[in-house]
Amino acid sequence: TATHSYKDTTIFNLIEQEYKRQLHGIELIASENFVSEQVMRAMGSVLTNKYAEGLPKKRYYGGCEVVDEIEQIAIDRVKELFGAVWANVQPHSGAQANAAVMLAVLKPGDKILGFDLSHGGHLTHGSPVNFSGKLYQPSFYGVEPETGLINWDKVEEIAMREKPKLIICGASAYSRDWDYARLRAIADQVGALLMADISHPSGLIAKKLLNDPLEYCHIITTTTHKTLRGPRGGLIMMRKDFENPFGLKNPKGELRMMSELLDSAVFPGTQGGPLEHVIAAKAVAFGEALEPSFAEYAQQVRKNAQTMAQEFIRRGYKVISGGTDNHLMLIDLRSKNLTGKLAQETLIKADITINKNAVPFDDKSPFVTSGMRLGTPAITTRGLKENDMLQIVEWIDEALQNHDNDTKLNQIREKINLQMQKYPLFAY
Ligand code: PLP
Repeated sequence: TATHSYKDTTIFNLIEQEYKRQLHGIELIASENFVSEQVMRAMGSVLTNKYAEGLPKKRYYGGCEVVDEIEQIAIDRVKELFGAVWANVQPHSGAQANAAVMLAVLKPGDKILGFDLSHGGHLTHGSPVNFSGKLYQPSFYGVEPETGLINWDKVEEIAMREKPKLIICGASAYSRDWDYARLRAIADQVGALLMADISHPSGLIAKKLLNDPLEYCHIITTTTHKTLRGPRGGLIMMRKDFENPFGLKNPKGELRMMSELLDSAVFPGTQGGPLEHVIAAKAVAFGEALEPSFAEYAQQVRKNAQTMAQEFIRRGYKVISGGTDNHLMLIDLRSKNLTGKLAQETLIKADITINKNAVPFDDKSPFVTSGMRLGTPAITTRGLKENDMLQIVEWIDEALQNHDNDTKLNQIREKINLQMQKYPLFAY
């Protein structure tokens, strides 16, 4: 057809350019990963053509027999992966998953308690610039200035004082594990629902390398594209159906199971048609994560992060909390007289991608920040191991020390480009 005869060289040239950027650089953004060829192919498939509002076998459109099967496989696989009893794989993103949960369990103006954004929390956990902070009344817990750790007694104190209806745990930049059992005890004490947003460490949780949130939290949300190594997207899960202990009602005022309330908060509550091509890619990624090789991957992600954190400490960097239990670390650059902004801008000249990040009790603006966040999910997928981590930290340290020396930064970049060509990356 006429529309299909148009050839878009502009965009495909740019995709080629982005592929080269990803291939040649060292990707240390903690929330990123590289998907497999089959995940990519599922995403770029004819499934993008299909409307499928509703759930498998309960659709508002015809012709959904095939996508019904695909979505059901995605649900079944993710349930097996996390030992969940219920899952909704339709949220378009992590933010959408969180929006749906809040729509299901809260009324506008209800109180929520989350981890402070400036200490490592996420925007959707009550930030004033986000729907969660505009529609609900947020309060926050944070880390201790001395240890960089969350003090559960303080969380309890704040919860007792604020009496939130929903407590949110999980973070974007917290390198330690969570005490879900303690948080559930706190939630029970104040009559709150407990939600864990495991977007960042979900791949490690799936392989039991960290505490199991499904054992204690009423509701779990996650993105699918970080340590889980799937397409960009979100999902919601529960292990126990918790039979709606809070007497929550649907928009018609009827008492319903939590699963039903959550399903209808996704659609029609916050979304229209599900992205079945992305759901298919999620199914593929969950299948990959069920394989024993993914356990090896998850372990290597953590080993790499721990090696990297220790090497930074050895070189005199301040790693918040003194190390990591998961895939990421947050580094306070003030002791090196650097800002997060300068670090990010310097490292990109050497083709090392990190993100500037506020550190707890930061005195600089979010555009500048005093820290950098680094994670190992992406480089571990490329095949890098502990020894490579030592080399990467050496390059980072060298680059930061020479942030005003472009010749030096170029030399480092050339070495990195050469090195990274040895590690395969599927194109498209
Ligand atoms: N929740 C947490 C803890 C996150 O770190 C993120 C993403 O960075 C999100 C939610 C949002 O996910 P998305 O970007 O897919 O909306």
